[in-house]
Amino acid sequence: MNEVLIAEDNPVNRELLRELLETRGYSVVEACNGEEALRVIDESRPDILLLDLDMPVLDGFATVRRIRENPSLASLPVVAVTAYAMQGDREKVLASGFNGYLSKPINAGELARAIECLLGTRDDQDALPDRSDPSQADEARAARNGK
Ligand SMILES: [Mg+2]
Repeated sequence: MNEVLIAEDNPVNRELLRELLETRGYSVVEACNGEEALRVIDESRPDILLLDLDMPVLDGFATVRRIRENPSLASLPVVAVTAYAMQGDREKVLASGFNGYLSKPINAGELARAIECLLGTRDDQDALPDRSDPSQADEARAARNGK
């Protein structure tokens, strides 16, 4: 069973991610900031890390930097999870050592696709997660909400 580490400071978001992942058959470990995530990585060697960018103590960018400085963790897939839905953030994230990018609110299908692609458990491995124009998704959501 593949193990996913969720590093996220918001307990509601952690619980939501845990449910989505356990439903898909993953085992889950949690950390509430980057320092704790680094400890959990040492202890339990998860297969993949979902890393919130905005966290106290050690944020997502600083955490992924520390991970990439460690040769034994070079191949650990790290997916940024971020509430920032601004143009250019995706590029900044992918240039900072992350392997993928998911924006909140988390879409269950996108989450599964991103993890399967990075773990190599999905057939169409060319299809890395890519929400190329987040503003369109926001507009669609606003339209559904009648705004
Ligand atoms: Mg946060």
